[in-house]
Amino acid sequence: MNVLTLDHLEVIMNELCLRFSDGVEIFLPLEMLRRACPCARCQGEPDALGRVVKPVVEYTPPAFQLRSIERVGSYALKPTWGDTHATGIYSLTYLRDLAKFV
Ligand SMILES: [Zn+2]
Repeated sequence: MNVLTLDHLEVIMNELCLRFSDGVEIFLPLEMLRRACPCARCQGEPDALGRVVKPVVEYTPPAFQLRSIERVGSYALKPTWGDTHATGIYSLTYLRDLAKFV
């Protein structure tokens, strides 16, 4: 099995640049990345019937600034945003999927 890992990570201007073990490079605007935060507070949690209602999230300008970014094992990244929000864990596959919408 060929597991995707991250070779390089860099923030350039307002974009997160990632290079993967298969040579693919992607550039994700930070604002888009924050809006796509996969945590329950940003995307909602399914209720008893399995319905997910997306919560209304208020963003302040620091919300789109990256304070730091941590690796979670070899499969994901966990950014800390300027407004201290840090509960989103972005898997590498999720990041690759996001890049298709840039
Ligand atoms: Zn979030």
